[in-house]
Amino acid sequence: MVNRRIRQEWEEYDLQSSYADNLSMFSIRLNYGGVFTKFPGRKYIKGKMNYIDDIDSDLFLVHDMDEIMELIDCVEPSKSIYYHFKRLTWDLDFGLYSLVNMEQQTCSCNGWELTGIPCKHSIAVICYMRLNNENVGILETWVHPIYWLKTWKEMYVLKVEPINGRFCGKKAHVLPS
Ligand SMILES: [Zn+2]
Repeated sequence: MVNRRIRQEWEEYDLQSSYADNLSMFSIRLNYGGVFTKFPGRKYIKGKMNYIDDIDSDLFLVHDMDEIMELIDCVEPSKSIYYHFKRLTWDLDFGLYSLVNMEQQTCSCNGWELTGIPCKHSIAVICYMRLNNENVGILETWVHPIYWLKTWKEMYVLKVEPINGRFCGKKAHVLPS
């Protein structure tokens, strides 16, 4: 795993100057070990908080979160963990978004919904599900049906009639200019 900096709540870290030269770097704030208050206007209370700095978004996988959770000593092997991010200025009830949404087959990187092929983040989640003995089914079914051989066969099920070749046409007898 790449060296990542774990920052405690009280530590200072100048994000502006650290990331100014590399725009693909980012930090994650992790809240854990707490509870959610009731809807509406939910809040997350009584938990601990850690920051993980110097993460490169080009290399980051949702799967890496497991290692990060281990680093901060927050593992419950019996439970699947679902990772979310909170949209800025949104209330917790409506602003919490999953990083990868397996039901809708979307990812925060937009790669999955744009291409119909699982991005590296969603593949990491599929691996994670499999490791946790969740039924992931046939792997190819995570790819959009447009790419399936079955769809291709259905598309060409009708007979394609041959058309006349260029030798069957009438000669124009026009001299080239
Ligand atoms: Zn993605």
